Amino acid sequence: MSSRSSRTLKAPPSLPSGGLRITPLGGLGEIGRNMTVFEHEGKLLVVDCGVLFPEEHQPGIDVILPDFTSIRDRLKDIVGIVLTHGHEDHIGGVPYLLKERPDIPLIGSRLTLAFITAKLTEHKIKPKTIHVEAEDKHRAGPFGLEFVAVNHSIPDSLAVAIRTRAGLVLHTGDFKMDQFPLDDRITDLRHFARLGEEGVDLFLTDSTNAEVPGFTVSERDLTPAIDQVFATAPKRIIVSSFASHIHRIQQVLDAAHANGRKVAFVGRSMVKNMGIARDLGYLNIPRGLVVDFKKLQSMPDNKVTLVCTGSQGEPMAALARMANETHQIKLDAGDTVLLASSMVPGNENAIYGIINKLTDLGVTIVHKGNAKVHVSGHASAGELVYCYNIVQPTHVLPVHGESKHLHANAELAVRTGVDSDKVLIAADGNTVDLVNGKARVSGRVEAGLVYVDGHTVGKVTEETLVERRLLQEGGAVTVVAIVDPDTNLLAEPLEFITKGFIHDEHIFDRAAEKVKNALAKASKIDTLEDLEKLIADTVARHLDRVYRRSPLITAVVVDA
Ligand SMILES: [Zn+2]
Repeated sequence: MSSRSSRTLKAPPSLPSGGLRITPLGGLGEIGRNMTVFEHEGKLLVVDCGVLFPEEHQPGIDVILPDFTSIRDRLKDIVGIVLTHGHEDHIGGVPYLLKERPDIPLIGSRLTLAFITAKLTEHKIKPKTIHVEAEDKHRAGPFGLEFVAVNHSIPDSLAVAIRTRAGLVLHTGDFKMDQFPLDDRITDLRHFARLGEEGVDLFLTDSTNAEVPGFTVSERDLTPAIDQVFATAPKRIIVSSFASHIHRIQQVLDAAHANGRKVAFVGRSMVKNMGIARDLGYLNIPRGLVVDFKKLQSMPDNKVTLVCTGSQGEPMAALARMANETHQIKLDAGDTVLLASSMVPGNENAIYGIINKLTDLGVTIVHKGNAKVHVSGHASAGELVYCYNIVQPTHVLPVHGESKHLHANAELAVRTGVDSDKVLIAADGNTVDLVNGKARVSGRVEAGLVYVDGHTVGKVTEETLVERRLLQEGGAVTVVAIVDPDTNLLAEPLEFITKGFIHDEHIFDRAAEKVKNALAKASKIDTLEDLEKLIADTVARHLDRVYRRSPLITAVVVDA
């Protein structure tokens, strides 16, 4: 396999005429914020623009975006954004890119466009959209696009073939090969095969489940376990899922209907998305089944089903607030919570935290760990191998996954006979050039994590997060020093103010002495900033050495 350490890569050379440059700006090295930029004949095509959800070590962050730095000067060259499907990790970043240039056309299937349009309305952006379906062809500048039906955990997903003078690229998007999906729309392997016959020069494939042996089980196989929950739960059933998981929610609706229960959707995103899915005919709701949440309050518990978000442990979502008893819906002993979703890597701790809290409330929890109530939306190793054998690509670039997933996927490609030096392992920001039929990693552009915190984008830096973690773990110590401006010596004793830092009375006596000594040697320092740094560093060293603690330390120097 061909991979080079990202650190040694430099800015890529200019792209030879007729060449195609592929730059993943997200999704390679993490599960989320998928975004790939294709450059050809001076124009850019973007495939997906998603968000990544923060982990526990990123406190206060709402979402993480791909880094647009490398395309910011070339926004006018973008001929379109292809959206392969409507999941947040594929469309969630679009509002932020359109804020920089609102008229970039969005190209996608009906449901995908409906989801992104609703999201953009919240951001007060009216997008230019181009509706395509499987089998459609569409030209976007120098890129000839052709769309292929693929099956995933959201309806209407598409793979995209991209024809350029440099060759033919096939990007699977997220996909699996459920042979009996609920909507009977299977991944179109015949179409994959036709493209394979034509000759796929570069195949970008979903790596999420490359480590999972065998085949992803069919969605239909879950029906008995879900039915079982509805047939036996003594009181209310609360189902938690992604607000986009239409197929799973359809199964829940069917089970509720069959067992004489009513259903209410809880939470803004769930209500909105299910409304869109119903209006477009992707969700089939029997008459009278879904009622307003308020109406359910007067019904007996064993007739009630609530469908909400929060299956990934997101702290502000309905399920977490129910577990923390800060939601208007109060859960009780005998209620059943059905977690109808996977655990996205990185979210496990948050999810187990919620499961424990719910258990303490006496709630029964049914999840994929104790019942067959969820299957993944991604192709397992067996399905990927099928695809490689059918497409027989010249080059392979595994996408959508952490490093281990990308490597596992690369290995599968090699096992099917793709030349190992034509299977490329790349990271976010690496540029892959396809020139004269040969693809290689050619360099690296900026692709850092861009944090959204409230209304700010990119203002929170790694440094901010280090400070937040220090605060979280060690609290804060502020040192106020009043100094003689001529000598830098203390004019009054130091004052220590603490928040969340536990100490006994005399802990700072030694620290104060150290600061005094340091200042005595510092008569030459002439800026307050440098003095503050000296004091903070001295106190930090002392606390770390003696107490093994690292609070966030701020020094404030005031001239006497
Ligand atoms: Zn997806």
